[in-house]
Amino acid sequence: MTTTLPWHQHQWTQILQHYQQDRLPHALLFCGPVGMGKRHFAQQAAEILLCHHPILPSENEILSQIRPCGHCKSCHLISVGNHPDLKQIEPVETGKQIKIEQIRDLIEFCNLTPTYESYQIVIITPAEAMNRNAANSLLKLLEEPPSKTLIFLISHQPMALMATVRSRCQRINFTYPESSLVHNWLQNQLPNQQNIELLLNLSAQAPLAALALVKEEDLIKRQTLLNSLAKLPIQQENPVKIAEMWSKLEAEKVLSWMLSWTMDLIRYTMTQQTHYIVNQDFKESVQQLSKQLTLEGLFAMLDLEKEVHRLIAGTTTHIKPQGLLESLAIEWVKLSKKSRRV
Ligand SMILES: [Zn+2]
Repeated sequence: MTTTLPWHQHQWTQILQHYQQDRLPHALLFCGPVGMGKRHFAQQAAEILLCHHPILPSENEILSQIRPCGHCKSCHLISVGNHPDLKQIEPVETGKQIKIEQIRDLIEFCNLTPTYESYQIVIITPAEAMNRNAANSLLKLLEEPPSKTLIFLISHQPMALMATVRSRCQRINFTYPESSLVHNWLQNQLPNQQNIELLLNLSAQAPLAALALVKEEDLIKRQTLLNSLAKLPIQQENPVKIAEMWSKLEAEKVLSWMLSWTMDLIRYTMTQQTHYIVNQDFKESVQQLSKQLTLEGLFAMLDLEKEVHRLIAGTTTHIKPQGLLESLAIEWVKLSKKSRRV
């Protein structure tokens, strides 16, 4: 069973108002940065709306008490991941497109009568992964939705969605929560003494992204990457070997950490101020390396990294990341002033 996140109070108020007046919109678009818990919210809303005896707070109670009963048939089916009235649509492979066949499947699902006479709920995530044909097909469903169908679209890039799809959904925004709320929540979630400030800086202040850094051992992978980046321009290690090691760390994450590292080097080289550095645990390395590099070289590196990031993250490309990572490693070796003189 999914629990309520403390920074979702406002969004719950919006949903509950519609629910209690029996006027839930057929399509809701959950928008906001990655790591704010949009998917978590959609899942929890589905659990509550499908539950036969949901526990809803009265007017004076805090909304964090809202939850499904946990005992009914519907709650049981959700807990085993097999509810006949709940459908999740996502790319078959991470980072790829949602295809028209998946939306056709979904339309068929929506034409069935709900098994438990409440709702049929569809969660599409990330909605911007739908290709044009898929989005057009969904549009028809949004224009004439079956009466008990609820469609939740989750998007951190709503402007990448077709305008006609966007305009048929009611938008629920997930904005950055108050920092004290997030600090307290993270403190309760993390067992050891973690540097919460650093975790939030590395995650663009998004609480679930900060938590994932620790839980998915990304913090360790990031350290491995930054250690190699700190050495590469100085010790000129074999870039092919380094790229091989990087490719084991997940290419897309490698690129976003590398971009953050390059931005730190640019910020420090321009200002000579350490408090602008995001990767605070590596600030000595940034200071040292900055002496060896030129701003011109760093900006060229940043452009190259952005291009590689676009290629790797692109939903339509089938490029193997290893070769791209190798070219980046070679460019890092070339980057030091010393190697420029050779
Ligand atoms: Zn229940």
